[in-house]
Amino acid sequence: MVNAKRPLKLPKNKFLATFKGIAVYILIALTALVFFSGLASGVPTGDEIPLSQVVNDIKDGKVEKLELEGNKVKVDYKDKKIASSRKEEGESIYQVLKNSDVDPKVVSIEVKDLSLQNAWVSILGTVLPIVIMVVFFMLIFRQAKDAGQGIFSFGQSRARLFTKDSPQVKFADVAGVDEVKRELSEVVEFLKTPDKFKALGARIPKGVLLVGPAGVGKTLLARAVAGEANVPFFSIAGSEFMEILVGVGAARVRDMFATAKKNAPSIIFIDEIESIGRMRGMGISGGHDEREQTLNQILVEMDGFTPNDHVIVIGATNRPDLLDSALVRPGRFDRRVVLNLPDLEERKAIIQIHMKGKPFTKDVSIEKLARRTVGFSGADLANMLNEAAILAAREGKSAIDNKDLEEAATKEKLGPQRKRMQSERDRNLSAYHEAGHAIVGHFLKQVDPVHRISIISRGISGGHTLFPPTEDRSNETKSRLLEQITAALGGHAAEELIFKDVSTGAASDIEVATSIAKQMVTQYGMSALGPINISPRAMFGMWRGDEGSESSDELQAAVDREVKKILDNAYKEALALIRKHRAKLDEVAKALLEKETLESEEFEKIVGKKVTV
Ligand code: ADP
Ligand code: MG
Ligand code: ZN
Repeated sequence: MVNAKRPLKLPKNKFLATFKGIAVYILIALTALVFFSGLASGVPTGDEIPLSQVVNDIKDGKVEKLELEGNKVKVDYKDKKIASSRKEEGESIYQVLKNSDVDPKVVSIEVKDLSLQNAWVSILGTVLPIVIMVVFFMLIFRQAKDAGQGIFSFGQSRARLFTKDSPQVKFADVAGVDEVKRELSEVVEFLKTPDKFKALGARIPKGVLLVGPAGVGKTLLARAVAGEANVPFFSIAGSEFMEILVGVGAARVRDMFATAKKNAPSIIFIDEIESIGRMRGMGISGGHDEREQTLNQILVEMDGFTPNDHVIVIGATNRPDLLDSALVRPGRFDRRVVLNLPDLEERKAIIQIHMKGKPFTKDVSIEKLARRTVGFSGADLANMLNEAAILAAREGKSAIDNKDLEEAATKEKLGPQRKRMQSERDRNLSAYHEAGHAIVGHFLKQVDPVHRISIISRGISGGHTLFPPTEDRSNETKSRLLEQITAALGGHAAEELIFKDVSTGAASDIEVATSIAKQMVTQYGMSALGPINISPRAMFGMWRGDEGSESSDELQAAVDREVKKILDNAYKEALALIRKHRAKLDEVAKALLEKETLESEEFEKIVGKKVTV
């Protein structure tokens, strides 16, 4: 797919390099300056002696000449020796001599004028910083120009323009999401033939908000709308508005809307809109001036256009809950289109699109691949197929096979394999830990069948046991959630039973289990507390925005007790299952130590077919 983002990294590095070069020159110049000014000031040489001795020596007639430079006193003796001394600030050498009853005339006193030298220092002191600043700004502006923007372009929008000549994305490039496409085709129609709609007095949405998790194709769809309507597309990410200078974001918004209107009919696309459009007066810092100004400007601009402007604003977010309610009021982002993770059929379609142009072996089945990838977003699928192609190429294959795809899918979710040296003890521990998850999961009726067990570490995990969902479920039940918690604690339980000791490796399992248990109690009404929603405690004494939902101390304590009860019971069950199937556990662990990875068939050979409800 075409990458919409211009690589901005390169110029930044170049800028840094240039700046470093300049900095070196400045440093050399400064060193030279200090060196030469040191010479010019005639650093006093010879021993440093107290002024009283100088006075005595003058009295004795040993001194030829005194040279004064500020408070420094250089003493030239008649026997060609020299020495240096120092007088008090503000004290006159004549006065000192007089006070000691010495006639100043017996010695020649030369006072060097420091004012000229001081003048130089002060001129350099003022000029140098200015020079440095000028050079610095010149570099910045040159940078701005390099990036295709004129000097003083701070306030101009950085929106990227995709004109009619840019590579176009069409609805056909976006798979699945048919309902969403249907909704958006209305927008396309309007942009193509605005007059038809106006004649009938139809109210056209000004703003469409695309809502959905990361990677489901929001950005892609927005571009497809522009491509279908064949209109210019101005795109900017919310985070790009955030600048150090207050007021710049608002100026950019103004500029972007003005440009879009000039090029109407057109589309303005604001990605990651939640980063500007957060609820005002919320958050730890207690509001963000710049963000509020930017948000207000967007509201003003959207209120400002009339249907005649033929500009449609599309926003995208994966956190609609964070949006300021002012943004979603009628006349602004009044149309909301929700995108979900793709279901089986949609995954098939997306896989097909991204398989194009890649050779696959004959045994690769789209159906199987789509079944294997429940919970993958469109972006995950695209990455997976690309990764598989890279793996195949690396091994010099002429086509991508199932093994590459399997590895790519695992890598997409768990990170790349990390081959690292493991002690025999660690491997043993990992083997029993993973076998524990697998055995507990296998003998629970509702947990999905084991897909693979491995003691090869990936990402941050030491090993993994995969139970990918075998079907798309829109709902979970209490009994299924309880079984999931039990399976998650299976690793920890196995460690305790086998080694009479537990490792830190179960930390994330425990986190998962606890989090499910908490949700069951506080959101789903699945505990003795009954159907009640209990929001987490406000942080740092700040309101979360939903005043009045703060729960009492007693209720919080009850929640903690219920969560603990769920976890304790699940853990007991995990221990019981492992005790009961101890022989199988040993067998699985032994096989893991031998082969490192067990596929579902190998696992089933040991434990038998999964019995489900
Ligand atoms: P989002 O903006 O929702 O985070 P993107 O639009 O950036 O997601 O999607 C990233 C990439 O994932 C796309 O460029 C595309 O390659 C792929 N992708 C996502 N959803 C789909 C889809 N429905 N059909 C085809 N490709 C998709
Ligand atoms: Mg996006
Ligand atoms: Zn584990």
